[in-house]
Amino acid sequence: MLELSTKIEEVPKIGTVYQKRLKKFGIKTVQDLLFHFPSRYDDFSEIIKISQARQRLGDVVCVQGRITETESKHTFKKWVAMTEATIEDETGQVKVIWFNQPYIIKTLREDDCVCLAGKISLYKEGIYLSNPSFERINDIGENESLTHTGRIVPVYPETRGVTSKWLRYIIKPLLYRFAEQIPESLPKEIIKKYKFLPINDAIWQLHFPESFEAADAAKARFSFEELFLIQLNVLKQKIKLMQKRAPECKMDADLMKQFTESLPFQLTDSQKKCAYAILKDLEKSVPMSRLLEGDVGSGKTVVAAMAALSVIKNGHQVAFLAPTEILAKQHFKSVANLLKDVDVTLGLLTGKDARICKNTAKGEGQAEVFEVSKKSFLGDLENGQIDIAIGTHSLIQKGVEFKTLGLVIVDEQHRFGVEQRDELIKGKKLVPHLLSMTATPIPRTLALTIYGDLDLSLIDEMPKDRKKIKTVIVEPGQRKEAYNFIEKEVKDGKGVFVICPKIESQASKLQSVKEKGEIIGSLSSQTGFVPQNYNVGLGQLAIQEVKAVKEEYERLSKEIFPDLRITMLTGKMKAKEKELIMQDFQKGEIDILVSTSVVEVGVDVPRATIMMIEGAERFGLSQLHQFRGRVGRSDMQSYCFLFTTSPDQLNRKRLKALVESSNGFELAQKDLEIRGPGSLYGTQQWGVGDMAMQGLSNIFLVEKTRTAAKELLEKDSELKNYPELKERLKQFQQKIHFE
Ligand code: ADP
Ligand code: MG
Repeated sequence: MLELSTKIEEVPKIGTVYQKRLKKFGIKTVQDLLFHFPSRYDDFSEIIKISQARQRLGDVVCVQGRITETESKHTFKKWVAMTEATIEDETGQVKVIWFNQPYIIKTLREDDCVCLAGKISLYKEGIYLSNPSFERINDIGENESLTHTGRIVPVYPETRGVTSKWLRYIIKPLLYRFAEQIPESLPKEIIKKYKFLPINDAIWQLHFPESFEAADAAKARFSFEELFLIQLNVLKQKIKLMQKRAPECKMDADLMKQFTESLPFQLTDSQKKCAYAILKDLEKSVPMSRLLEGDVGSGKTVVAAMAALSVIKNGHQVAFLAPTEILAKQHFKSVANLLKDVDVTLGLLTGKDARICKNTAKGEGQAEVFEVSKKSFLGDLENGQIDIAIGTHSLIQKGVEFKTLGLVIVDEQHRFGVEQRDELIKGKKLVPHLLSMTATPIPRTLALTIYGDLDLSLIDEMPKDRKKIKTVIVEPGQRKEAYNFIEKEVKDGKGVFVICPKIESQASKLQSVKEKGEIIGSLSSQTGFVPQNYNVGLGQLAIQEVKAVKEEYERLSKEIFPDLRITMLTGKMKAKEKELIMQDFQKGEIDILVSTSVVEVGVDVPRATIMMIEGAERFGLSQLHQFRGRVGRSDMQSYCFLFTTSPDQLNRKRLKALVESSNGFELAQKDLEIRGPGSLYGTQQWGVGDMAMQGLSNIFLVEKTRTAAKELLEKDSELKNYPELKERLKQFQQKIHFE
């Protein structure tokens, strides 16, 4: 007996291969299938008589007829499979040709009635219908039960091995069976207020709309609903948190003054403002949830250090989480250095390593760092010996206990700490404050949705002594010149970063390019649609330079700069090995460091003044901006060289934007305009539907859903009177995972 919650394994017609493919994109139940929404529609709603076809050359239309002949052959010049058929109705005959779909012949039987939707094209002797979608019908003139033709036809997001045709074939019968049973999850008053379609209609109209207006109405409802769920989720968490208590950490104004005066630089006004907001939050007994946002190099660490200082002075501990071991080690060093005149014990915990650093307030500067066993480290954390513990995720795993954790600082993982804090606070009386830091610009719509439970502080100004990094697009013909320049800088004692797109050998790359080319070839001939990124011919792709770290390393060290000290760093290396390399680079024992994009952001090497990026067009603007932020961390003039061989105008436009702007926000906005919302923020991993994604760029919708969610939770914070909504929210929470 099928139900909405039935697993897809039990749905007839879905074999094991398809079960696997569907699961890959998160479809586990009948309900999930029904909520797998089309991304667009083909308008195949016009059905014409065959005699009219001649006047409709170039149009996409439907014809219905009886198959009189079928034949399978190959094109004359190329070996492209061709399936031909002739169909007739009472007004005439027309030829039908499918390219590259040899299997189609098996599904065509003479004398069958079919409905076909495709483009009327011109052939030597006449017109034909090219590559049409088709389905069998009982008789000419039948159009009530059409699924793939003769109507507005849904096209689902492209996924390997699961075609839209297959999905329509599976989803339609399920809709007949279940559309009426889907519980209405939106509150009645909201449906009434916004005149939304009830869910049972909406789901039909979304998959198989009667008109484009009906599809839009259905979309409006689901976009609202998805954003509304995000809002409810975030606001509910916030309400839950507001009921908890956090340690109140009084701000010591004199101490802060003393601290800022000890710094070798002056804080920018932005830093001061942010620090103040944070220190004030820490005084409250409600847990802080604050996102500190500031471009690379804007100086977030020192602000975090001030927060940490305030918390330890109030007798509580601080956990400082970094996304990678190298960054954890760097933070350990810089925080220890920033707090060198403070009585503080810092700990570093990464995979296997544990280190301690005890600073004293005697003005002797930063103390020695020594290694300890992990066991003794954990003991010190638990008995409160360690004031500030810095590390990767391993710091907040099971078995790691703090005596009195007052503040969690999270670097570059946005929401990471939010969920982790939920874990940390289970069964605890006091909840730590949370400070999350990011260099990723967050547009207002996201700030109001997925980050809606966090307060925002923005460092919107750079330290004054910074020189603008000179950014240059290097054409293939200018390579030599660029290399000469680099050599000169290195002889001056400067360091150079080289970033390559991926670790992949030329040979394996070619293979994958070839595969891609084939897939695209058949895809484009079927649909007439070529994905935007792939509109390069096969040959062109192959000669396009694809830089692999290893190859680049060898080329640079053997051919280009045989006299310089070059090392490569890849994501696959052991943490220890990476750390040693970074140290050597920092100390100036390595001139050029070749690495992939996976290598950590935010690594601080002041002597590095050149960032050289191979295949620059392959990266997003925000990412390029992040790379660029690794140089220019001193008062020396720094450079960013963008190597590209791509003649593509869009790519050019993007790289130009990088040359012209040094503002991360502006660049993110540009990326959004040029490449669309999917390109940014790692959004693909969130598990949010396309409807919500589109909604996320609509500030009006975002505000509307936020208000609706607030109003509802004010009335009924537990959603006691809305069991269907509560259930839907529960399912939703299991699906999403914001970062
Ligand atoms: P990010 O915001 O990218 O994390 P960091 O905190 O690593 O930046 O700071 C980058 C560098 O700038 C560090 O070397 C830091 O000591 C320095 N710095 C921070 N604030 C200032 C300032 N107000 N003036 C000058 N240098 C500063
Ligand atoms: Mg940083």
